Amino acid sequence: MRIAKNIEMLEIKGDNGVIYPILAWDEHNLVLIDAGFPGQIDLITAEIAKANRSANDITAIILTHQDIDHIGCVRELLELAPNAQVMAHIEEAPYINGEKTPIKLAALSARYDDLPDDMKIMHDKMKAGFANRRIKIDKFLQDGEILPICGDIEIIHTPGHTHGHICLLFRESGVLVGGDAVNIQEGKLIGANPNHTADLKSAEESFAKIRDLGASFVVAYHGGCYTENTTS
Ligand SMILES: [Zn+2]
Repeated sequence: MRIAKNIEMLEIKGDNGVIYPILAWDEHNLVLIDAGFPGQIDLITAEIAKANRSANDITAIILTHQDIDHIGCVRELLELAPNAQVMAHIEEAPYINGEKTPIKLAALSARYDDLPDDMKIMHDKMKAGFANRRIKIDKFLQDGEILPICGDIEIIHTPGHTHGHICLLFRESGVLVGGDAVNIQEGKLIGANPNHTADLKSAEESFAKIRDLGASFVVAYHGGCYTENTTS
């Protein structure tokens, strides 16, 4: 779905619900923000093709944070576009490149013996998923940094859901890519889901920061597009 000039919200329907990565471009760049669950590469490339672009032309993959549903297809995308630069917040990078155990996996591992069987299966899947998906980060992003591409993309550090979570503001169009720092519930924009949040207080502060930006559109990775009057 086209949400602004040269910005497309991809719609990836999978077993775990719908997710909404963002594709943006200008004359020299094709940027993907977040990269789906493992196994969704065909769905992602098909959605990119629907926007009349090709995954082979991706120049940058920006990751809002470390979770498996955001980094799942980076490896396969880099096979298609080997020169694409992978970017993430400097505090998030060690969890993505394999230096540290991703926080949700570490939390589950710590109480593995007490987990119900279905959670044990989820843990094992997650562990295998991360083991195969250590990703080298080419560029470390910081709060306030502006990438001079696609009408200027501002990096906004929004810790809470994870410590190095970022949102991205397209300054020209006013589109805010909220990742998992935002959700949509009954037509209202809300903050990170408390059940999946590392630091609730920071998440609340980050959500206040997001609201203050006054973006015209906000995209929630698990909720879609929010505007002041309508949602989809
Ligand atoms: Zn997520």
